[in-house]
Amino acid sequence: MKGYAMLKIGESGWIEKENPVCGPADAIVKPLAVSICTSDVHTLWEGAIGERHNMILGHEGCGEIVEVGELVKDFKPGDRVLIPAITPDWNSLEAQAGYSMHSGGMLAGWKFSNFKDGVFSELIHVNDADGNLALMPADMSPVDACMLSDMVTTGFHGVELADVQFGDSVLVIGIGPVGLMSVAGANLRGASRIIAVGTRPKCVEAARGYGATDFVSYKDGPIADQVLAMTNGEGVDRVIVAGGGCDTFQDAVKALKAGGKIGNVNYLGDGEFVTIPRVEWGVGMGHKDIRGGLTPGGRLRMEKLATLISSGRLDVSPLASHVFHGWEHIEEALFMMRDKPADLIKPVVVID
Ligand code: NAD
Ligand code: ZN
Repeated sequence: MKGYAMLKIGESGWIEKENPVCGPADAIVKPLAVSICTSDVHTLWEGAIGERHNMILGHEGCGEIVEVGELVKDFKPGDRVLIPAITPDWNSLEAQAGYSMHSGGMLAGWKFSNFKDGVFSELIHVNDADGNLALMPADMSPVDACMLSDMVTTGFHGVELADVQFGDSVLVIGIGPVGLMSVAGANLRGASRIIAVGTRPKCVEAARGYGATDFVSYKDGPIADQVLAMTNGEGVDRVIVAGGGCDTFQDAVKALKAGGKIGNVNYLGDGEFVTIPRVEWGVGMGHKDIRGGLTPGGRLRMEKLATLISSGRLDVSPLASHVFHGWEHIEEALFMMRDKPADLIKPVVVID
């Protein structure tokens, strides 16, 4: 089979590989569509997960099953399925402890384009098919389905980590596709005010559509100062971090009320330490919770989130700003994600 791979840090291209072998609990899936993630950019060009040779990239997609192992009960060849970015080993102790995304070690539930070949491939191997695949609703487009793999679940996980409650004021730092889904999730959870940090007109427009009430530009000065000025010096109840770096993280602490909660889903890409501002953290006694997490994956998660789209409660179509048709466009789509033209939210490649 052919796949589009990271050859080494900074270099990518098409390679030939042996077809994946379907174990007894596994499935082999032919993609219907795949989407490019900021994490692919971190992996390939920034060496975020270290050196990898000839590893097929990608972890967002949906497809049609071509083969299942003899132990798979609920899926069969021909089924159209959602594929989560995170495909845990559901028998692991970490999963039993409630942290399936860390099954096999910290962050190790993220297997595609990390510990094994990813989804930019003619054939995708999915471990524990009954636990990890979900049937794609008949009326769902492959483009929408791709947004469930990672963007919806991660953005919503930021909302879960920040524990957004009815009436909360929520600050969402970063309104790329993940942050946009955090805005949408905070809105679904009943936030009263959602302050979004971002400037690109396309993202601002989408964020407004998802329920953002106020906007802050990080180019206009420190985020925390602006948020405090907008809230009579009080700050917000919850902060979701979906963009920026370690310094931005400090703004999250500073803009938060005592007793507030921060949910970080952002990948903190450089620097050795994340510094917590001492005074604004209540000199250690401010009850400002900081939580950060890799998104959960797996079947139930995908099935439940899919119902939000099917029922019309969540429209993910604004995310897919650039839709290509055919494998020949995968490189263009990937490079586009790296270069981030102003009107880009998410590039998707449909495999016709
Ligand atoms: P993105 O790059 O499209 O969006 C990030 C946004 O943050 C951009 O719009 C950027 O302009 C903005 N930004 C940059 N600097 C900023 C600053 N100082 N203050 C505020 N905003 C700033 O990325 P994305 O696809 O939306 O993903 C967001 C983050 O989530 C990435 O770091 C990605 O790697 C990570 N991620 C995490 C998980 C997880 O499971 N936790 C899954 C997928 C992606
Ligand atoms: Zn992703």
